[in-house]
Amino acid sequence: MPEAANPNTQRGQGKQSTRSLFKLSYELASRYTEELDAREVVPGAEAIAGLDEFHEPLPLAGTNPESVINMLDRAGSPATVASTGGRFFGFVVGGALPVAIAAQWLATAWDQNAGSWALAPGAAELETVAARWLLELLDLPRDAAVGFVTGSTMGTFSALACARSALLTRMGYNVKHQGLTGAPQLKVVATDEIHPTNLSALGHLGFGLDDVQYCPTDDQGRIVPTQMPALGPDTIVVLQAGNINSGSFDPFEDVCQIARAAGAWVHVDGAFGLWARASASKRHLTKGIELADSWSVDGHKWLNLPQDSAIYACRDPEAVQEVFGVDATYLMRDTRREPNNYVPELSRRARGVEFWAALRTLGKSGVEDLVDRNCAHAQQFLQGLESAGYEILNDVVLNQVVFACDTEAKTKAALARIQSSGVTWLGPTTWRNRLCMRISVSSWATTTHDVERSLSVMQRAIQAEP
Ligand SMILES: *Cc1c(COP(=O)(O)O)cnc(C)c1O
Repeated sequence: MPEAANPNTQRGQGKQSTRSLFKLSYELASRYTEELDAREVVPGAEAIAGLDEFHEPLPLAGTNPESVINMLDRAGSPATVASTGGRFFGFVVGGALPVAIAAQWLATAWDQNAGSWALAPGAAELETVAARWLLELLDLPRDAAVGFVTGSTMGTFSALACARSALLTRMGYNVKHQGLTGAPQLKVVATDEIHPTNLSALGHLGFGLDDVQYCPTDDQGRIVPTQMPALGPDTIVVLQAGNINSGSFDPFEDVCQIARAAGAWVHVDGAFGLWARASASKRHLTKGIELADSWSVDGHKWLNLPQDSAIYACRDPEAVQEVFGVDATYLMRDTRREPNNYVPELSRRARGVEFWAALRTLGKSGVEDLVDRNCAHAQQFLQGLESAGYEILNDVVLNQVVFACDTEAKTKAALARIQSSGVTWLGPTTWRNRLCMRISVSSWATTTHDVERSLSVMQRAIQAEP
């Protein structure tokens, strides 16, 4: 063998240089986090222009890893959105708990293939523990199967695959073996308030979006049970816990009772709203949710885990095994919980680690406090915006506030003013056919002072000339 040309892939690189590389990354990440509060919430033109540095030709020869990490920080860090800071209220993204980031770093160094117990005993057991804790915290059936996925889109995708398999199995049809062609037709009932990612999930599974039966909603975006079409053993109902705009919850108890009597399947998209269940004062919003058949919820939103983290739970573990169970001699399966048998992919990172670390750190009361604090901040926004002259367009029951000026032109002008402030950021939405602005409070880092600073920008913005 000729000498390898690239010193970075050689053993000689040494323990010392690995340690100094890790230290460099740690220092830069720590500095990034410390400076977050002082910088603009969204990157300015200069930071975006700085990304040009990445657009270089494919390097023919290697370089030293320190310079790569330094370049990543130099050009990459300024071009980030400070969504993990305290004054980003756009979308529903959540921050990232320091302990979850730290746990992810360690788990990244482990580089476990968390799909398999034999390959990753520690990661697999942490998933088992996290799954048990999550079912208890969210008060879902304790024997539900839990899969760790990338996000709620994949959570819903996975749950709906199980729903389809279970309903067709009850009709004596095995979709895994017999395929979709010739399968009995299933119906999907949802509302026009359904989150668009649920439509993606349905589409990936081969449900025709034109076939979805959209059911009317009330002024908060909640399904109206009396106006639902007839449900049957061939029906999947998709509900939501936490409307992306208003934060409202569908009336689970009423719908689930109808669905149960009809033999239908109910899936709940609880991407952020399912965490309301951890709060004694918000829990009433989720009444009857435990009667559903499957649920999806993000870790990377309101639990404040780093991105790429969610779970789904399914009442019917047999359906989960039917859909996702994989076996081969080399996988060395025995009676242990095999993480990949709950999700679409085999090889993957150890997502359970961050769930475990966050729950171990916060405890039940810490999750409750996180939810309650963000909901209290939403109330603070509600009052401040109202007294500034904005119109509030939703019942602020959770962490979401939808508001507007009296004309669309003024709303646009105010939004532009807020978005360019550098102090705070939120986005537009259409709510009940009206252009609005939307606040989502979902970061552990947000303080009362952050809300006050943001409100002062919003109070000035309503004066903006269209
Ligand atoms: C964010 C969100 C989704 C999609 O979740 P991802 O984690 O982005 O895949 C689905 N439904 C609701 C209500 C959401 O807020």
